[in-house]
Amino acid sequence: MTAAVTAADHGLDVAVLDAAAATGGQYYRSPAPALGATRPEVLHHDWAAYERLAGRFELHRRAGRIRHFTWHQVWAVESTGDTWTLHAVTGPEGTGSAALEARHLLVATGSHERQLPFPGWTLPGVVGAAGAQAMLKSGLALPGRRIVVAGSGPLLQAVAASLVKAGADVPLLVEAAGYTAYAKAPRTLAANPGKLAEGARHGAALLRHKVRVLTRSAVTAVHGGDRVEGVTVSRLNGSWRPIPGSGRHYDCDALAVGHGLVPQLELATALGCATRTGTDGTHALVLDEQLRTTVPGVWAAGEVGGIGGVELARIEGELAALSVVRHARGVATSRGRGHGGRTAALVRGRRRMRAFADVMGAVHRPGSGWRGWPAEDTEVCRCEEVTAGRIRRAVDELGAGDARSVKLLTRSGMGWCQGRTCGFAVRELAGPEDVSAAGTTADRRPFACPVPLSVLAEAAEAAEAAEADRVVDGGCAGEVRP
Ligand SMILES: Cc1cc2nc3c(=O)[nH]c(=O)nc-3n(C[C@H](O)[C@H](O)[C@H](O)COP(=O)(O)OP(=O)(O)OC[C@H]3O[C@@H](n4cnc5c(N)ncnc54)[C@H](O)[C@@H]3O)c2cc1C
Repeated sequence: MTAAVTAADHGLDVAVLDAAAATGGQYYRSPAPALGATRPEVLHHDWAAYERLAGRFELHRRAGRIRHFTWHQVWAVESTGDTWTLHAVTGPEGTGSAALEARHLLVATGSHERQLPFPGWTLPGVVGAAGAQAMLKSGLALPGRRIVVAGSGPLLQAVAASLVKAGADVPLLVEAAGYTAYAKAPRTLAANPGKLAEGARHGAALLRHKVRVLTRSAVTAVHGGDRVEGVTVSRLNGSWRPIPGSGRHYDCDALAVGHGLVPQLELATALGCATRTGTDGTHALVLDEQLRTTVPGVWAAGEVGGIGGVELARIEGELAALSVVRHARGVATSRGRGHGGRTAALVRGRRRMRAFADVMGAVHRPGSGWRGWPAEDTEVCRCEEVTAGRIRRAVDELGAGDARSVKLLTRSGMGWCQGRTCGFAVRELAGPEDVSAAGTTADRRPFACPVPLSVLAEAAEAAEAAEADRVVDGGCAGEVRP
């Protein structure tokens, strides 16, 4: 949104294609209109910032400077000379299709949640931590009444605070890392007082609602028949290996669990944009300070450049758009005339927040000991029902040394989600102890999301028709057959 508004402010003709039904992304998710929510701001922090942005967005939309295509999930982008053609599946069921051409492309596809499998994580009543937050913000629904929140990362605090605010009983927040690890980077912390204040605000909310916080601990088993009835929480050593005999049972009827976020890179990697491994062990795009990817004509902003939070995403959106504007206007304004000071301030803000994000990523990066959490029969790839035992056998007995070989031997990652959910876990279970040192690259998939065959057939027909037109235009009409 910030990028679109900034580019439109500077006179560019902007088209926003979004898989969602409304603006706001993951953070500023609005309740579905049918729910008739009158005070959506209650579940959000800094809703005023969103309203200001949404107001500017709407003005541009009415003036025709921004075209907003909701329910347009882009499944592929192709380079067509000096333009890009974006192909999208459209509508709530994703059964329609659309194609759109653009001169400049800015990818801001955000992130999805990182899941680490353990016994019971597929039981009804277990939801993603960020997923619980999304469910609450968009559907005003809770996954249960007594909810344990677990995993790793600062998002857990926000999730627990929202759940208690909405009336849930949250007896426990279980964090696998330790917050004291942040103290190893005092200068980065001091440079980001806003982040400290945010942590303190959440901490106070948890204290007020009597949410007990256990650090260096993890939910290592979920119990129940048809749905969650309780969890086992174990203490972890420094590498996240459960300490034998430390497991304790807690009653609950839901578990909200997530171990951070993973940049959603499918579109960018399909275009050939280079990636790097972040301190959190996930792949993110390589970007320069103007938010250019390694592919000319493609910019990126927000979580695709590494997980860093909404404020950083806003700064990057503005910075990327200003860079696109300079590029669109050509050499005469290449030094950023008119907004050079603003650009410099944004670059400084980005550096400061990226430094904090790096610290955060390192603190909460899953320790290698988590690989012992799944039992032999724990499903790792839910779509293809591939268990940890099968993955371990593929590695130990069949010699698979990486996620790709494991995939070929077990079908992990070949189902509906194409490895978006299990990819990180399979890679870690398949690879050497230190995955980042092994220099792995991000997965490249031909399509960014599931695409109905009818849509692919339509795209093929359109391409054939375009080719026929091209032959006619080229004066070779005689060669075109009906
Ligand atoms: C489920 C979830 C819940 C979260 N909840 C919180 C929270 O409560 N508090 C918090 O601090 N942070 C939360 N985060 C993190 C938060 O999303 C980010 O800090 C912030 O929103 C990043 O902004 P962004 O623009 O990079 O991505 P997002 O806000 O995620 O925006 C990405 C947009 O891209 C669209 N998109 C993705 N792929 C495609 C495609 N192929 N075609 C078209 N559109 C596409 C999505 O529909 C979305 O609108 C959450 C993250 C997730 C994944």
